[in-house]
Amino acid sequence: MDWSSRACARNGHLTYAPSHDEYASKLSAATHAGTAWKCLRCGAFIPGEPHGRGAIEDAPAVLHSRQIRDRVIIRTLAVERGVRGLIVLLIGIALMHLKNSQESLEVQLQKSLPLLKPFADQIGWDINNSRVIHILDLFVNAAPHTLWIIAIALSGYGALQLTECVGLWKQKRWAEYLTVVATSAFIPIEVYELLHTVTFLKAGALVINIAAVIWLLWSKHLFGINGGAQAAVDEELIGRAALEYAIALHSATPTP
Ligand SMILES: [Zn+2]
Repeated sequence: MDWSSRACARNGHLTYAPSHDEYASKLSAATHAGTAWKCLRCGAFIPGEPHGRGAIEDAPAVLHSRQIRDRVIIRTLAVERGVRGLIVLLIGIALMHLKNSQESLEVQLQKSLPLLKPFADQIGWDINNSRVIHILDLFVNAAPHTLWIIAIALSGYGALQLTECVGLWKQKRWAEYLTVVATSAFIPIEVYELLHTVTFLKAGALVINIAAVIWLLWSKHLFGINGGAQAAVDEELIGRAALEYAIALHSATPTP
């Protein structure tokens, strides 16, 4: 897939007229519609005024095709963390509020179970053997301080996931490290869970998490892997590097 063209189709092209003659001639072409400038991202020649003019060093930063794809993967990961984090955090907060009203929760649960039954039957949910109800039941019967520990642990885990979400979305390097460390820390627990009972959901989550850790370590050059921090900096295209990348881009014929 051509990620650069997709990004240009969505956000528009990125053209720049450098004041340096040699670079300018390589990045421009005469068309019947006037001078066209080569897009720094996708390499197409775009007629009309360039989006910017100036010195070579002032050329705007541009993401190349693989970096655009990586950003899509990272943002998908961020959304997944965000949704999970929000759900877990809300459960944690709800438990904190319930800690002093265990009796009422128990009464409420018993009242609502018969009401839920017809709906559960409709969707084929066996409410009497439901793990969710079983877990809720455990909470109801748990000692207050046990409930507190569970509530704090869930809230903390939810907050951690939300922090990863925001950092990954903003493409922060600390978030990539945090995600790798935090996700790795939970992998042994996930393996233990899987040894206990194998479900498609658990196995899928484990595979995604292991893949995410390996992918982040390799493609983001974390912990000195695959060239380390210097390789990450070298991949950034800005100024002269952005222009040279665009000049090397294949563009057979100028777009009229
Ligand atoms: Zn373009």
